[in-house]
Amino acid sequence: MAEISALCVYCGSSGRGAKSHLDAAAKLGRQLADRNITLIYGGGRVGVMGKTADATLDAGGEVVGIIPRFLDEYEIGHTELTRLEIVDSMHERKSRMAELSDGFVILPGGLGTLEELFETLTWKQLGLHTKPIIVVDLAGFWRPVRTLIDSIIEQGYAQPENVGLLTFVPTIDDIFPALAKLPSGVSKVDSKWL
Ligand code: AMP
Repeated sequence: MAEISALCVYCGSSGRGAKSHLDAAAKLGRQLADRNITLIYGGGRVGVMGKTADATLDAGGEVVGIIPRFLDEYEIGHTELTRLEIVDSMHERKSRMAELSDGFVILPGGLGTLEELFETLTWKQLGLHTKPIIVVDLAGFWRPVRTLIDSIIEQGYAQPENVGLLTFVPTIDDIFPALAKLPSGVSKVDSKWL
């Protein structure tokens, strides 16, 4: 496994989803703190994002939030983080989050989370990074995404091997065992152009 000292968690800014999603976020926060892994996330204090950050901090862990200035008031920037970086744009936010992280974990979320998942996946498809991407498929939350990717592959728009760029796990407890099994720095990219 690649050495993991910081993990980027992408997840919802809403807290109106299932309580089990908030519980899962809290569990992940505690596991990050226990393992001395810094949480890198979007910097808000609301929703699944806020819950992940609060649980990490409550368990004594380190949390770095990255939030664009214009979003600070909507997502209500967390004021008790180890560090909150305020940036000028969404693009800057995402590249900074990627730069600081050794891997990505995707929890339930909305359209923003979906965009973040696909950006991270497509950057990996292009060989721009080789970091693990763990999709936590709580109670099948992300199954429609998997179905869509399978259909895209079936119709010739992505390579079958590229589904392996994502690692789907069913629960929070499966994240670290999955990371331990992944080879570090997988760099083979199956190009759709060949
Ligand atoms: P959501 O899943 O929609 O609650 O959003 C989760 C996170 O993604 C929040 O921090 C949003 O600010 C962020 N987000 C929303 N739209 C985008 C986008 N187009 N690109 C990147 N991040 C986004």
